[in-house]
Amino acid sequence: MQTVITNSKMKIGILALQGDAREHKRALAKLGAEPIEVKLPQDLDDVDALIIPGGESTTIGMLMGKYKLDVKIKQKHGEGMPIYGTCAGAILLAKEIIGSKQPKLGLADISIKRNDYGRQIDSFEADLSIKDIGPFKGVFIRAPIIKGFYNGTEILSEYKNNPVMMRQDNILITTFHPELTNDTRVHEYFLNMAAEYKPIREARKELKESNES
Ligand code: GLN
Repeated sequence: MQTVITNSKMKIGILALQGDAREHKRALAKLGAEPIEVKLPQDLDDVDALIIPGGESTTIGMLMGKYKLDVKIKQKHGEGMPIYGTCAGAILLAKEIIGSKQPKLGLADISIKRNDYGRQIDSFEADLSIKDIGPFKGVFIRAPIIKGFYNGTEILSEYKNNPVMMRQDNILITTFHPELTNDTRVHEYFLNMAAEYKPIREARKELKESNES
């Protein structure tokens, strides 16, 4: 297991338009990070990373557009801000949502299908094994299935031959909900990503400012 490589308190935004933002807040606070609720574009100005929680991806996507958060999230992603999407958050990050034209961010090279485990088993738990973390209880709720992935997406865990946790550069995706367990290791993994990208983002910002002056 990795350890958090910085002592400075990471400010982690949690998109709080709809869905289970509160549980992510609790996990982050437990790890000593500072959770910040993100409801408007300016709430992103100060954060080191962003979590997009589970909920209803159509509702979150629609509200994201209404409050112009989509534009700002894409801009910050381009500047190197890490983003972690769980379940509905994973759907919103996908470049392709199979069979749906709903609003999305489209930042990760995956194609995903919503509610694809079927109605009978729409919620279940599975014993997963996660790269660099180890055994982990996966809580799945009306979860999507990642059907395709391209361009250097790294699979960190799979269930029945489908990826359930992946990383692509500064994006982390799980189709399950670690925030609904007491196990904070996935959030710790994401805090490490935030710490890893912080100097990169700061260097880019300085460069941009010196080019502008
Ligand atoms: N089924 C939901 C959707 O399609 C996602 C469920 C979840 O986030 N737990 O948006």
